[in-house]
Amino acid sequence: MNILIIGSGGREHALAWKLKQSQYCERIFVAPGNAGTAEIATNVDISITNFKELAKFADDFNIMMVVVGQEAALVDGIHDYFQSLDYLKHILVIGPCKAGAQLEGSKDFSKRFMQQYNIPTARYQTFTVDSFQEGLTYLQNHAYPVVLKADGLAAGKGVVIAGSYEEAAAELQAMLQGQKFGAASSKVVIEEFLQGIEVSVFILTDGKEYVLLPEAKDYKRIGEGDTGLNTGGMGAISPVPFANEIFMQKVRERIIQPTLQGLQTENIPYSGFIFIGLINVNSEPYVIEYNVRLGDPETEAILPRIKSDLFELFRALHDHELQNFRLEIDPRTAATIMLVAEGYPGDYRKGDEISGLDQPTEALLFQAGTTLTEDKKILTNGGRVLAVTGLGNNITEALEQARQSAEKITWAGRNYRRDIGFDLR
Ligand code: ATP
Repeated sequence: MNILIIGSGGREHALAWKLKQSQYCERIFVAPGNAGTAEIATNVDISITNFKELAKFADDFNIMMVVVGQEAALVDGIHDYFQSLDYLKHILVIGPCKAGAQLEGSKDFSKRFMQQYNIPTARYQTFTVDSFQEGLTYLQNHAYPVVLKADGLAAGKGVVIAGSYEEAAAELQAMLQGQKFGAASSKVVIEEFLQGIEVSVFILTDGKEYVLLPEAKDYKRIGEGDTGLNTGGMGAISPVPFANEIFMQKVRERIIQPTLQGLQTENIPYSGFIFIGLINVNSEPYVIEYNVRLGDPETEAILPRIKSDLFELFRALHDHELQNFRLEIDPRTAATIMLVAEGYPGDYRKGDEISGLDQPTEALLFQAGTTLTEDKKILTNGGRVLAVTGLGNNITEALEQARQSAEKITWAGRNYRRDIGFDLR
């Protein structure tokens, strides 16, 4: 069977790597992919939101399954588009339709959804440019710090934690009146700040049944000790020690089940991943956000721990057989370190040649912002360049394997965090 993966990050490289292990996969294509996916699959030079070209490609190349890695394609309706074409109806799309993708595409929608279905989350209120003054009054009466979130997709930059009224008011003005994030900040969610430790929980669901995947913790800040600017993610650890059976039982009962029930009540069909960003407040799980695809770099930590055939898991979704699927999980710990370009997450260098990729290593390498030149050199081509995943009997061992490998891979200005997972040891 031929499969098309949509995206170009380490997540998509990891998906291609995992699917390639299945005896059922014939050809794997990645649009647009990177230098890493080019080694194990065929890259297709089509943008993730050019649905017309993607549909034509799927038809021409007899694609039977489309796995959507990146959220923008889902929020823009790639699933709906494929479904609207009679000749592509047979294709299994892993990723929800536009209606389901609102869980990620609109924070106002997801907060209303959580409130409606009693899913624990921070208290909030939403404001628009017309209710800006009410927003200021709300901020005057709010405890600090407070969290402001642009409603729409803002590449992880639309969330501000403000320590004072002045800061929050200026941010609210910039988002609503100054259109700081364009249409994405035409609505702003103001919510209570929750103090706790975060964990990412993933399910694959057909909207009714689900399979729980390994959880992970990601490290968002650029600097060691969780300091500095937010990034797309500097590393991840799976499993997460505090996500024990008691905690996960609460997650199933209070969050996963009501989420699926809510989707059914709203008549929102769903097929794909739900990534629930949780915060553990005194052993109680609260939802920070929903995403409608896997996380990056969490995928690079969780897929190596899944022993089951990913294709078979997707097929179980298609056949509504998820309740009978026994996911086999490697009990070892995975530690993923993201190697990034100099300057990231600000303006960063591009086009540096990466060396050391051919060195023998026990760790797994998943490329992200890389590109292949005509003379077969691999150059940096993004802020987050490459993920290295080590596996071990505990965090220390897994991290050591990842670090040894990370040290061999170099380019001018390459940077990475050496303390991924230290807080969990
Ligand atoms: P990303 O796409 O990068 O995951 P996002 O832009 O969709 O993020 P959120 O996940 O909602 O936004 O928030 C980003 C980060 O801000 C969270 O991972 C968390 O660290 C912090 N955060 C968000 N909401 C809260 C809150 N209510 N209390 C404390 N911290 C919060």
